[in-house]
Amino acid sequence: MGLIDLRSDTVTFPTEKMRKAMAEAELGDDVYGEDPTVNRLQSIAAERLGKEAALFVPSGTMGNLASVLAHCGRGDEVIMGDCAHTFLYEVGGISALGGLHPHTIPNQPDGSLLIEDIQNAVRVDNIHFPKSRLLILENTQNRCGGVTISREYMMAASKIAHDAGLAVHLDGARVFNAAVDLSLPVDKLVDMVDSVMFCLSKGLCAPVGSVICGTKDFIEKVKRIRKQLGGGMRQAGVLAAAGIVALEEMVDRLVDDHERAKSLSKGLQSIPGIQLDKGSPNTNMVYIVIDQALGINAIRCQESLRKQGVLVGITGPYHFRLVCHYWIRDEDIPVVINAFQNAILA
Ligand SMILES: *Cc1c(COP(=O)(O)O)cnc(C)c1O
Repeated sequence: MGLIDLRSDTVTFPTEKMRKAMAEAELGDDVYGEDPTVNRLQSIAAERLGKEAALFVPSGTMGNLASVLAHCGRGDEVIMGDCAHTFLYEVGGISALGGLHPHTIPNQPDGSLLIEDIQNAVRVDNIHFPKSRLLILENTQNRCGGVTISREYMMAASKIAHDAGLAVHLDGARVFNAAVDLSLPVDKLVDMVDSVMFCLSKGLCAPVGSVICGTKDFIEKVKRIRKQLGGGMRQAGVLAAAGIVALEEMVDRLVDDHERAKSLSKGLQSIPGIQLDKGSPNTNMVYIVIDQALGINAIRCQESLRKQGVLVGITGPYHFRLVCHYWIRDEDIPVVINAFQNAILA
């Protein structure tokens, strides 16, 4: 029995087509700028996102870090949500390596930040205060349920930041899920931000890599920082080749993951004792919570599910995250629902 792995969309293996493209990729030394496959990925990405230039990086975490370091200087302040991936899950890199001061404001249940909170977070010019330099937005917002943020909101939040002299960086790890959910071309979801990072290695199934997009000058700056962080790669075209397939063939099908997440969420909610933990899924994630009165906690439930061939992520004492992706099929959904039923009755 193959495992049904819903822990994340990062567990996705490359497709057959990716493996073939990787094997046949034309290569060069990318630190010299001579890898034709990396260069092709970067130009496809820049065009697709409507930005002047792009840079391939080993991970989303490095992509966010290098972008933030390029926008800010030591001691500057960075405004972001208290559920932002950069705040929660990036090992405090912007502080440890950049000497930056995170200023968090509450993420609303829909993933947004109140415009008023952004406005109030911006520091006035005063000798006691750090300088506010950057606003980080996230779309889809992972910790709020994989929720999609609208183009209108992105524009309003960016305008507030720009009017106050701040730059805006989008953590768009799953920005293609957001674009597909909104039926918008992705460039329409990022044209208001100064820089954006997206991941090839999540729902798009590439084995490794993320891309940063922005102006030519910005990308030149980020390229030096990537090297400084140890992220200069040599014949990285073997990885970029999979990224090209990801961009060209794996975006439109994300809608299937969203549909499966909806049917999974519906089925799980029909089990007494299981409720949605965040809003109804917009995209590929389902967050749920089980009733404490069932007498089973998340760790024991996860163990029972594992014995039934289902892997899930734990997000709290009774809380789970389940993520649909390319390797989750329609016929897996009833198996997962059934496994939860068994786990809870056990
Ligand atoms: C996964 C993720 C990242 C980081 O990507 P890695 O490649 O895992 O380092 C950044 N932001 C968000 C919202 C993510 O979900």
